[in-house]
Amino acid sequence: MHMKLAWKTPALKPAIAVLALTAVWLSPARAQGYPTRPITMVIPFAAGGPTDLLGRSLAQAMSAVLNQSVVVENRPGAGGTLASAAVARAQPDGYTVLLHHIGMSTAPALYRKLNFNPLQAYEYIGHVADVPMTVVGRPDLPPITPKEFIAYMKANGSKVNIAHAGLGAASHLCGMLLQQAIGSEATTVPYQDTGPAMTGLMGKQVDAMCDQTMQTMSYIKAGKVKFYGVTTKERLRQLPDAPTMREAGLKDFEVVVWHGVYAPKGTPPNVTAKLNEALQRALQQPALVKRLDDLGVQIVAPALQTPKGLQEKLSAEITRWGPLIREAGTYAD
Ligand code: ASP
Repeated sequence: MHMKLAWKTPALKPAIAVLALTAVWLSPARAQGYPTRPITMVIPFAAGGPTDLLGRSLAQAMSAVLNQSVVVENRPGAGGTLASAAVARAQPDGYTVLLHHIGMSTAPALYRKLNFNPLQAYEYIGHVADVPMTVVGRPDLPPITPKEFIAYMKANGSKVNIAHAGLGAASHLCGMLLQQAIGSEATTVPYQDTGPAMTGLMGKQVDAMCDQTMQTMSYIKAGKVKFYGVTTKERLRQLPDAPTMREAGLKDFEVVVWHGVYAPKGTPPNVTAKLNEALQRALQQPALVKRLDDLGVQIVAPALQTPKGLQEKLSAEITRWGPLIREAGTYAD
C-alpha cells in the first residue's frame, strides 16, 4: 500500500529511478560503491571490556574513513566462540566483520567441539594490535612487590583466588600460564566477563587477576589495585616503573593479547581490500593512535595490518598454543 502510494507521487519517480540505477551500480562486480549501508563489527565479549574498548575506538575511526557507520555489536559467550561461529556463518558481503583476540588461536585446542575452523572460515582483514597484560591484586592484598606476590602465590597455593573473564578468555590463559610459571596451583574463579571480574577484584571477592592494559591502566594509575608487573618481555613506556614479571623471576614468561579483524569466507576481494585500506588508514589517525597508546595498546607495524599479516599470526599462534593447552589438559567445553 505504502509502495503504491509512493509510486503515485510524481515527484518521487526520479528519486526511485536513481535508486534503481544505484542498485545496478552496486552489484558485487561493482563494489566501488561499498559500503552503502552500516557495517556491523561483532565483538565477542561484553560491552566495557578490553576488546569492546578497542573495537569501539576502531569502529569510530573506520567509520570516518569509510564515510559510513561501523556499528559495534557485542555477542559475548563461550570465550568468544559464539560470535566467531556466527560471523563465520554470516553473509559474506562485507557488512559483518569480527574483531577478536588471541582467543581465536586458543579455541581449537580449548574446545573439543568447535563448530568453525579459524583457518578456513574467514577472509583475513588485518592484525590490529598487541596488548600487554598486567598482574593486579585486590586493593588490600598483602604483597607489595612482584617478588612478594610470587612468594605469596607459592605459600598460599589454592587459598589464592585468581579471577578471569570466563573459560577461554585471555585472562584465563594468562592466569593459567602465570600459575604454571610460578609453580603454584591457585583457585581460578570464572566471571561472566572482564567487567564483572574487575568488580570482583575491587570488591575483594578474589585476590588477583591478569588482565589487559586497556582495562587495568586507569585502575593502576589511580592506585585502586595492587599492581605487580607487566607480562611483556620489555617494560612498557606507559608504565616505566613497573617491572616485567620476567624481571621478578619468572623466566621466559610472556603473554601478549593480539587482536585481528576477520570477515566471513567468500567476502569479495574488492570488499576485503576496501576494509583493509580502511583499517590501515584508521590506524594512522592521530586521535586513535593517542587514545590507544594511552591505554597501553601497541598498534602493529603496517606490514602486519594486512590479510597476510593476520593469517600468518593466527596460524603461528594456533601452532604455539595447541600443544601447550593440550599438555595442560584444560578444556573449556
Ligand atoms: N573478555 C575480555 C574482553 O572483553 C578479554 C579476555 O580476558 O578474554 O576483551
